[in-house]
Amino acid sequence: MDDLQHGTRNKRGDWAPSRALQISPLFTFPPRPIKILKWLPGYLLPWNVLFMASAVVFWHFLMPDFATMQHLALGWVLRLLALNMSAIFVFYAVFEARLYIRRRQGTRFKYNARFPDDTKSDVFFFKRQSLDSLVWCFGFGVPIWTAYQVGVFWAFANGYVQWVSFSGNLWYLLALGFVLPIWHELHFFCVHRLIHTPFLYKWVHSVHHNSVNPSPFSSLAMHPVEHILYFSSVLLHLIIPSNPILALYQMHFAGFGAMVGHIGFDKIEVGQGGFDTHAYSHYLHHKYFEVNYGDGLMPLDKLFGTWHDGTPEAEAQMDARFKRRVARMNRT
Ligand SMILES: [Zn+2]
Ligand SMILES: [Zn+2]
Repeated sequence: MDDLQHGTRNKRGDWAPSRALQISPLFTFPPRPIKILKWLPGYLLPWNVLFMASAVVFWHFLMPDFATMQHLALGWVLRLLALNMSAIFVFYAVFEARLYIRRRQGTRFKYNARFPDDTKSDVFFFKRQSLDSLVWCFGFGVPIWTAYQVGVFWAFANGYVQWVSFSGNLWYLLALGFVLPIWHELHFFCVHRLIHTPFLYKWVHSVHHNSVNPSPFSSLAMHPVEHILYFSSVLLHLIIPSNPILALYQMHFAGFGAMVGHIGFDKIEVGQGGFDTHAYSHYLHHKYFEVNYGDGLMPLDKLFGTWHDGTPEAEAQMDARFKRRVARMNRT
C-alpha cells in the first residue's frame, strides 16, 4: 500500500497520518447521534470485539473451573499464570515478529522510521529495548495481572461480590460491557496523571517512558508499582453488580489491550488492504511525554489542555505550553 496517500513523511523518514486525531463524539453536547453511529464501528472493531471474544473463549475453555477457584491453591494459580504468560507472549509476539523482526511492511505507516533494537542503549537491560521490555513484562507485569485475576475470581467464586447473570440482566450487562473501555480510559487517565508527578515519574513511570519509540513488547514494560495501579481498574467489578466474563474482559482490555498504543504503525497491512491500529494518540504521548494522557475516548485531555491531535496547530499549542512552563519555573 502507498502510505503517502494517507499521510506524509518528513526528512527523517517518520510517517504521520494526514487526518487529525478525533475525540470520540460520546460526550459532545448537544448529543450527535449520527456522528456516534458513524464512530461506533471504529470503537468496536477490531480491538474491543477481539478482547470480548478472548474473554469468552478463556472463560469457557481455558480458565480453571469455578469450584476450583473457590479455594486458593498453588496448582490452579500457577496454571493461570502459565496460561497468561503464554497468551500475552503469543499475542504481542505476533505483532512484534511481523512488524519489528521480519519487518514485513518496512516503514510503511510507521510513525518513527527507526527500529528500536537497531540502537543499543545503556538505559535498557542487555542494552536492547525489546529484551528489557520482556523482563518488566514477564518478571512483573503478567504475574501482577494474574494476581488481580486470582483475587477477583476467588471473590466471585465465593459469592463475595454481586454476580448478575446474562440470562436475567442481559441489557444491563451489555450496557456495562459497552462502557467498560470508557471506565478504563477514565481510570487510566487518573493513574497516568498521578504517575507523571515528579516523584512518581522519576521512580516509577520513567521505566515505561524509556521506550521513546515503542514496539508491541514495550506495552507492559512498566515498573511494578505502575502495574499495580494500571490493572486496578478491574476492582470496579468488586463494587458494582457484574459478571466474571465482564471482569475478564476488563482485564483482557488492560492486558492484551496495552499493546494497541504501542504498535508504532498506523495501519497493519493485510493482503491488498489493512486495518487501522488506533495507536497514534499514545505514540504521541511516548514522543512528547506531556500530551495525550488518555486516548481521546473521553475529552479529558482537551479539558486539561493536553490534547495533541497530530496537527501542526496542536504542536504549536504544545510548544507554547512548554515555553510558558519554563518561564514560570525560571521566575520561581
Ligand atoms: Zn505507553
Ligand atoms: Zn506517561
